[in-house]
Amino acid sequence: MRVLVIGSGYVGLVAAACFAEAGHRVLGVDVDPAKVDALRRGHSPIYEPGLEDLLQRHLAGGALAFSTDLRDGVADADAAFICVGTPQSEDGSADLRYVLQVAADLGSAMALRAADAPALIVVDKSTVPVGTAARVHAVLQARTERAFEVASNPEFLREGCALQDFFLPDRVVVGCRTEFAGTVMKALYQPFLDRARAQDPARGRWFQMDPPSAELTKYAANAMLALRISFINEMAALAESVGADIDSVSTAIGADHRIGPAFLNPGPGFGGSCFPKDLQALLKVGREYGHPMMTLATTVEANRHQKMVLVRKIREHFGCRPGQPAPLQGRRFALWGLAFKAHTDDIREAMALEVIEVLLTMGAEIAVHDFEAMPNVRARIGDRVRYADDPLAACDGADALLIATEWPAYRSADLEAAGARMRSRLIFDGRNLFRPEVLERSGWTYHSLGRRTGSPAC
Ligand code: NAD
Repeated sequence: MRVLVIGSGYVGLVAAACFAEAGHRVLGVDVDPAKVDALRRGHSPIYEPGLEDLLQRHLAGGALAFSTDLRDGVADADAAFICVGTPQSEDGSADLRYVLQVAADLGSAMALRAADAPALIVVDKSTVPVGTAARVHAVLQARTERAFEVASNPEFLREGCALQDFFLPDRVVVGCRTEFAGTVMKALYQPFLDRARAQDPARGRWFQMDPPSAELTKYAANAMLALRISFINEMAALAESVGADIDSVSTAIGADHRIGPAFLNPGPGFGGSCFPKDLQALLKVGREYGHPMMTLATTVEANRHQKMVLVRKIREHFGCRPGQPAPLQGRRFALWGLAFKAHTDDIREAMALEVIEVLLTMGAEIAVHDFEAMPNVRARIGDRVRYADDPLAACDGADALLIATEWPAYRSADLEAAGARMRSRLIFDGRNLFRPEVLERSGWTYHSLGRRTGSPAC
């Protein structure tokens, strides 16, 4: 089949490369000429494991091409996927200007299709509020008499393992109004559904519904995951106070099949390009329709509090007093991890950046390390921190090591070597990478989330 993928970011690029891998012919489109130029040369503008290899293979094989102009692919496309950003507007709602612009561009380009061409399936893959498929439909209808249908196909991939998620989906959700649209969408996804089911019969499920239900499914999924994160973070804070161990608690509650083990690890609050903005958008929809989303409002508030968990522990450890000017003057911190999670270079809403800002205000000096995100951070905040070539180099002369991102290589880092380069053996770990009793035995003062410190577990 012929597929047009509009927007070549984290979602669009992965979708384009994976559709090509599944045997479809794909044109990826982006308005950014520098991005398209790099892509044509086989360079991925984002870091996603395995993506660049896949792009290069299908560029060379001719299944994948890139353009700045969607008109290059409209004439013979079976489906056009809209994968542009839907950032947060000032009032919290999803900003649909890019989605509606693409709809308008597609509508104008429809004249390039033969009058008797089958309906083009225009697919909202961007995360959009309920009712957007209808708006996209109206924009297209105002511009063309050629046949088209609008479908909603929310994306559930996770940055860092996006190829695996796309190739082996738990489920594919499609909202559409006609059998024809459903058939085209199913044909596009069949290779992925088959592959996922072959690995695990419980995966690769196909859910076809109306567009509003598909649109709401995406927000509901993100809201549920965010809620679990805030829930376990709250339990971790309580565990610390009452002398319980959150690892034992989350393992035990996760063994209940009604609950399950996923998303029960405490951390420094959720960030990234999706959860924060999607929760705000859902809250806005709730307000618009007269349904205050109380659990979600609390989740957002709890997460705002959680993002400062390491700062609170640092303040307490160093005895910083409220109102004290520059209480960390002369203190040096090493910070491991800048991206909002491991295996990505994405720093949108990353906790590390908020912590950096607060610590700099408190007079601290900071040396940072990340395996992929340092160029993005340098572009954002410049040389207000020192960028270290490797994790150990960040530790030179540090009073404490902070861990913000769960890159596996941090877990296996040589802590003895790190400690030898630091002024004191002190760690504030926002990802619970190490066992408290092991670190304490080797002379570290170790602050983590929701675990007992100072006494071995009995
Ligand atoms: P992104 O910012 O990485 O990419 C968007 C791309 O669209 C950019 O390259 C931009 O140049 C391009 N673009 C903007 N206007 C355009 C136009 N008129 N024509 C062509 N290209 C245009 O965004 P993303 O992270 O890929 O997210 C895209 C959508 O998918 C969002 O709605 C997001 O919420 C959703 N989503 C993201 C993820 C994720 O993990 N990043 C997961 C699921 C869903």
